[in-house]
Order: sequence, then C-alpha cells, then structure tokens
Amino acid sequence: MEDVMIRTTGLTKAYESVVAVDHLDLEIRRGEVFGLLGPNGAGKTTTTLMLLGLTEPTSGEAKIDGYDCTRNPIAIKSIVGYLPDQVGFYPDLTGRENLRFTGALNGLPEAYCEERAKRLLERVGLTEAADRKTGEYSRGMKQRLGIADVLMKDPKVIIMDEPTLGIDPEGMRELISLIRDLSVEDGRTILISSHQLHQVQQICDRVGIFVKGKLIACGHIEELGRQLENEGRYLLTLQADPGGEKLKNAIASLESVRSVEEGAGGVLRIDSSADIRPQVTALLSKYGQTTLLLRQEGGDLDEIYHRFFEKAGEPNEHGGSQGKTGKLRSFLQTKFHKA
Ligand code: ATP
Repeated sequence: MEDVMIRTTGLTKAYESVVAVDHLDLEIRRGEVFGLLGPNGAGKTTTTLMLLGLTEPTSGEAKIDGYDCTRNPIAIKSIVGYLPDQVGFYPDLTGRENLRFTGALNGLPEAYCEERAKRLLERVGLTEAADRKTGEYSRGMKQRLGIADVLMKDPKVIIMDEPTLGIDPEGMRELISLIRDLSVEDGRTILISSHQLHQVQQICDRVGIFVKGKLIACGHIEELGRQLENEGRYLLTLQADPGGEKLKNAIASLESVRSVEEGAGGVLRIDSSADIRPQVTALLSKYGQTTLLLRQEGGDLDEIYHRFFEKAGEPNEHGGSQGKTGKLRSFLQTKFHKA
C-alpha cells in the first residue's frame, strides 16, 4: 500500500487569461492532516475541483489512492468526502433525517443507514440534538453534522473548506479534536483549505502556502520557520524594564542588526541576520534591565505565512473564502457532497 494518498504532478489549470493552478506538485500522506493556505484567488478551489474530478486539468495529473481524479470519477466519489464551508442541510428535517437522506442518496441499505447515523451523531456530540430540525442548529452544530454527513459513506479522504470559520471557541475545541481523531484514530487523510492560520496551526501536520496558483512553501510548521531562519531572517520581540534609548541604541549597533522599531509600551521589534538573543541578554544584564518579553518569531504560522508572502512579493493579507461565489458553492455541494 502506497504511503502517499493524494499526489498531484505538474497539475495545471488555465482559464482563458488566468493560470489558476500552475504546475502543482503535492504529496499528502495517508492519515495526514494537511492545510492548504492561501488568499482569495490563490487557486485552492480550482485545486479542490480537480481533486474531486469535477474539472479537468489543462495538463498534469491528480491521483487519490492511486486513482486518476479525472478518469475515475466514480472511484474518487467513493473514496473522497467533501465538506463545504457552508454545509447545506434541509432545515425542516432533523439532523438524523438529513443523515438518512444522505445515506439513501449514497445507496446505503436502510438499516445500516439508521445504525450508522446513530453512531455518527454520537461521535460528533449531537445525540441530544439529533431529532431537532437543522434549521435551529448553530453554525458549530451544522459543521459537526457536516462531518457526520461526510462520514456516512466512510471516506478515506476528506477535503474540508474553511471548517473552522465562524465557530465559537468552545465549538472550535470540539471541532479541532474531532478532526484530529479522524486522522489519528481512523487513519483518514484530511485536506483543509483555509486562511484561518491559528486554527490550521492547531490541526495540521503540514501546510502548503499557495499564491497565484503556485505552492511557494510546503512542510511542517517548524520546518518552514527554520527555512526562514536559515535564510538569515530573524525577528526578535523585546520588552525590557525600564527600556529606553540607551538599550535601543546598543541593540541597533550590534553587527547583524538591520533595524530596531519601537512599538506601543516600548516593545522593540528587532530585525537581524543572525540569532542575537545571547548578545541581547548580555546587554540587558549590562544595563540592569528586567526582561519582560523576549521572543524569537518564526515558530508561529501567522508570522511564517506573512514572511513567505513578503518573499513572494505579495501583499500581506490572509484572504478568505468570501471570494467564492454562491454559485460555485452550490455547484460543489450538489455535484459532490450528496453524491
Ligand atoms: P477563494 O478563497 O476566493 O475561493 P481560491 O484560492 O479558491 O480563492 P480559485 O477560486 O481557485 O481561488 O481561483 C483561482 C484563479 O482562477 C482566480 O484568479 C479566479 O479568478 C480564476 N478562476 C477560477 N474559476 C474560474 C473560471 N471558471 N473562469 C475563469 N477564471 C476562473
């Protein structure tokens, strides 16, 4: 059994004037949770469409579990579950009835459907709400029902679009642990398309940063942080008591320091070409300063994301899914979700 579950090779999609996805080479391992990050228009949706076999690549190929996504749409539909950012349920039907409906659409026998719906509602923590109409569900509940819905057909791979958008902190914790379980306990492969960096950082094993159809960075979050450090880019945040000009000037005159900016509360942001923490600590001691904050940036996905963007010459914006039209959303849902 191959370890790679999703593989794209030179995957390209060109529309008339735009190359939406440009020679994408991606490998996502079995059981991995992978985050595809990028602003509006980066090409995430187009990549998803090609993986789901709903649009043909201009060149290159996409394979899931060894099946070519374009040539084997039926196999792909049975292997892959798709969870859109806004799952559409029939509001007048209960959670359980909606799951039954999905099971029937997928040709599952009635008794099996009933049992599976019961177990899945339990798994996503919706047993008590199972017989309430979904029109009354909160967004978090709908999202959890969406996961149960996708699991009805027991997919090996789940592609999720902005799963954490608009969820409150408590709901978020439940959702994150549920998604992790799908990978760790069930061994499913999860691809999350998102711009919510903080949440992605908590869920994903690896991330890919996608800009203008190209993958500009890919790896474990710590790995990406190290890559930036290896290029000689260090950002240090320092807050000292009492602080002051003397300390600031002493830091600015260190050999590898490019710039020192002072922010609110006397917090210094130091840009340097080497790790200067030992020299800074020595200066703090020399000037009898108390360290309130000393943090090397780079391990935080938000920082990594922005700095890769700077490198790619792109504006520093997260972007979101707002750009996706309702038309595309409903197309994806009707074509795939209930397939
Ligand atoms: P969002 O988060 O807004 O959904 P995205 O990362 O999913 O963005 P895509 O929707 O894949 O990005 O779009 C990538 C590029 O391809 C954009 O420039 C978009 O305008 C263009 N594009 C997408 N679909 C089409 C189409 N059917 N015809 C022409 N251009 C398209």
